Amino acid sequence: MYIKRLELCNFKSFGGATQVPLLPGFTVVSGPNGSGKSNILDALLFALGLSTSKGMRAERLPDLVNHQQSTRGRATVEASVTVTFELGDAEPSSPGAALPPSLEWSVTRKLRVTPQGTYTSTYAINGEPCTLNDLHEQLHELRIYPEGYNVVLQGDVTSIISMPPRERRQIIDELAGVAAFDRKITQAKEK
Ligand code: ATP
Ligand code: MG
Repeated sequence: MYIKRLELCNFKSFGGATQVPLLPGFTVVSGPNGSGKSNILDALLFALGLSTSKGMRAERLPDLVNHQQSTRGRATVEASVTVTFELGDAEPSSPGAALPPSLEWSVTRKLRVTPQGTYTSTYAINGEPCTLNDLHEQLHELRIYPEGYNVVLQGDVTSIISMPPRERRQIIDELAGVAAFDRKITQAKEK
């Protein structure tokens, strides 16, 4: 499974519509400071349902809408991000074999902000409207954890290096899947 495409519309520094195609394997996004590299990761987290705007380096969710759009006039403005995953195995099973059929799964999040500053956030899976709960469930099945360590943000590495060993151990337990069992044991003991 890999992220095949990101489609951004009026998200942070990306005014208008921008497509970011990605290939399987390792991808590097390079560019000058402030050119929007981290905003691409923020867009990914946004679409995966991260609820705190701070996690996407914005004071409030409405700050995620491209400033050129939001300061333009009296109309409601909208930012949207679609992330498309390729779920099928992209490699042919043996040399010369045909590629397996593509199996796409996409999530779209739209943020509409009124001139008064109120906003709504909506989600869709494969184009069908869904709740944030539906999204969480499906992401869980696909083992995508936007609030976990699928995504390592700028500064995370330094903070992991400099944190006390006990805290670092908690992260390792979480990554190794041991923490989930510890939680179950604690729950069982409480019952
Ligand atoms: P660095 O190399 O320093 O990490 P970067 O390429 O990761 O830089 P980002 O942090 O992605 O850069 O982008 C920062 C830029 O995004 C800033 O110039 C900021 O003004 C702009 N930006 C953030 N939010 C918005 C917004 N809502 N509308 C327009 N521009 C925005
Ligand atoms: Mg950055």
